[in-house]
Amino acid sequence: MVKVAEEWLNICGGCEVSILDLGEKLLDLLPSLEFVHMPVLMDHKYFGQIGEKSELEIPEADVGMISGGIRNEKERHVTEEMRKKCKTLIALGSCACYGGIPALANMYNVDDLLEKVYRDSITTESADNPSEDIPPLTDKVYAVDEVVDVDLYIPGCPINPVIILEALTCLLEGKPFELPERSVCDDCPTLRKEKSDVGLKRPLQDAEFTPGEYDTLRCFNEQGILCLGPVTKSGCGKQYDAEEQVVPRCVKGFMPCRGCFGPIRKDAKPLVDMMTALSSVGLDAKLIDDRRALFNRYIGAQNRLRPLPTRVRR
Ligand code: SF4
Ligand code: SF4
Ligand code: SF4
Repeated sequence: MVKVAEEWLNICGGCEVSILDLGEKLLDLLPSLEFVHMPVLMDHKYFGQIGEKSELEIPEADVGMISGGIRNEKERHVTEEMRKKCKTLIALGSCACYGGIPALANMYNVDDLLEKVYRDSITTESADNPSEDIPPLTDKVYAVDEVVDVDLYIPGCPINPVIILEALTCLLEGKPFELPERSVCDDCPTLRKEKSDVGLKRPLQDAEFTPGEYDTLRCFNEQGILCLGPVTKSGCGKQYDAEEQVVPRCVKGFMPCRGCFGPIRKDAKPLVDMMTALSSVGLDAKLIDDRRALFNRYIGAQNRLRPLPTRVRR
């Protein structure tokens, strides 16, 4: 019996829903798995069931799964405890792997964020920063592997349940698990004619396609519609039925890739690589004002997004 612990940190809960999305496949796994800690399903308290313990405690497990990045000191503490108690640790979802959407906040320092949220927003009544009974914020959003060692990465926003099943099955059978180092474009069935004959357009503006027919859909970038497929790791389209064509998830819905699977390789530079990919189809990425945020939308931790130094006017 393999013991599994799961924790959620700075998240929306979508990755936990993906675990439940395994549906009957999860029932097939249950005879071999024992969930010993999982806040989304189980009422296991950190300091004993009635608060009788003085130290945060998570049960020992063979496999630990963490969704979400780290935004406050409580999340850092929970992450360190998970690492201590779990033999194998999985970063589950783009937030855990690379900071995810919340790491867009890394473009600002904490004081500026608090000022914006509690005093400088037109929809908020001005107030002091909350300070009672809440853990202090960390200086930025961290991916899990910036705080502790991670053994296995399952990216996606949210994750594809098929990949969770594959990873858990590999762990149960003692086999290695890794997603291939290829791009979303490598699995994309759209038509490519090499050069764009239009300029950059707004998302899905005048998109040309016939519903249900991918082979009539022209590459989004060639249509002038920004697609992060060239710099994004593939795998999101995996199906239980291996016979089916593996079309990337967004392309399957006739939408461009937003980059949620993160970089193809750990040391890749998606901002630079995306500028090159766009210029290779004849588009000028410099015309995109917020390209720093757009090209790093899911991967702002691991020092990919930082506050820019204030320019001194002369
Ligand atoms: S990766 Fe996406 S779905 Fe998962 S917790 Fe983060 S925001 Fe939610
Ligand atoms: S850029 Fe997008 S639409 Fe074009 S081939 Fe790559 S994934 Fe497909
Ligand atoms: S196509 Fe891109 S954004 Fe969509 S699920 Fe796949 S990796 Fe994520």
